[in-house]
Amino acid sequence: MKTVSSLLNPEWHARYKRIAKLNIRSSIYDVTNKCNLRCKGCFFFSSDEHKVASEENDIHKWEHFIDKEKQRGVNLAILIGGEPTLYLDRVEAFYRQLPTFCATNGLIKVPRDRFPGMMVGISLWGDEADEKVLRGKDTFRISSRNYQGDPHTYYLYTITPKQIGKIERIIKKIKDVGLKVHMQLLSNDEGVDGFSWTPEELEAVCKEMDDVLDRYPETVVSCKYYHQVITTGMMLGREFGWQECPSVTKPMDHRDPQPKRLIEFIRWASDLNTMHRCCTSETRDCSTCKDGAAHMSWVMVNKRAHMRSSRDLQNWIEVYEMFAKLYQFIPW
Ligand code: SF4
Ligand code: SF4
Repeated sequence: MKTVSSLLNPEWHARYKRIAKLNIRSSIYDVTNKCNLRCKGCFFFSSDEHKVASEENDIHKWEHFIDKEKQRGVNLAILIGGEPTLYLDRVEAFYRQLPTFCATNGLIKVPRDRFPGMMVGISLWGDEADEKVLRGKDTFRISSRNYQGDPHTYYLYTITPKQIGKIERIIKKIKDVGLKVHMQLLSNDEGVDGFSWTPEELEAVCKEMDDVLDRYPETVVSCKYYHQVITTGMMLGREFGWQECPSVTKPMDHRDPQPKRLIEFIRWASDLNTMHRCCTSETRDCSTCKDGAAHMSWVMVNKRAHMRSSRDLQNWIEVYEMFAKLYQFIPW
């Protein structure tokens, strides 16, 4: 039987041991239904998730809810929305009780005296031209001023098909403001013309992601196996989709057979009662899903399947390390 020890040399085994003890249990929270932008292709608004529940305004109810989440075993709160920074009291309620990650468009600066160590992920959708088409403004100009040099912040760069051949310039821009970057791919939920992927484009973007990782290893938080999985939708000969997805809300997960999944994962709406189907759009056709976190988690929950060779297990370790860095469980 293949064991972890038989597959890894001492160096890789030490890396394995560092992450094996983490036992990350995340859930996702809509902090609000409101946003100060309306991006074309925003999974939240395009699937009407902002309409399914009216948000809770009583901060004491948020505190009580977070306490219950902690008791449920959650040790990573991922805050999304709408735009979480519109309600910093709610963000603070999480931050006081749990390791917290805040996704934001970066237009409002999280005050670091109030949230000194909170990891912030700023969304960026391509270059200035793409951002103007899809989001109505060049958000980088504002967000980079707000967060320049911040050691607990990275850009979550959503690459669109229009970015092929132009990715390096964005990575350099991010490097020049002293921040890190993680890459994922646009799912184009609102079918904006020219923003859906062709197989050739996916192949090209994979090569380009590998290339920027090689050239900017201090700036890009990623690994080549993640690039391969997210651009092909394939892992060890299996195809990503509804039957394989690990990021389905547990009480709504009636799949049979059950795939490997995130333990007790729930995505909560901002009324603190309603649940959404998964970590992203309620209405997305899973066969088009390019969600980066879902693909990363897919790899992470399938450790045993990666124990067929040293290279496969090393790939698994690299993806796990990437996730752990992005959510501050291990240093960059
Ligand atoms: S900033 Fe984020 S939440 Fe707001 S509309 Fe854009 S993608 Fe949606
Ligand atoms: S849309 Fe994506 S994240 Fe949601 S269930 Fe489908 S595959 Fe999973």
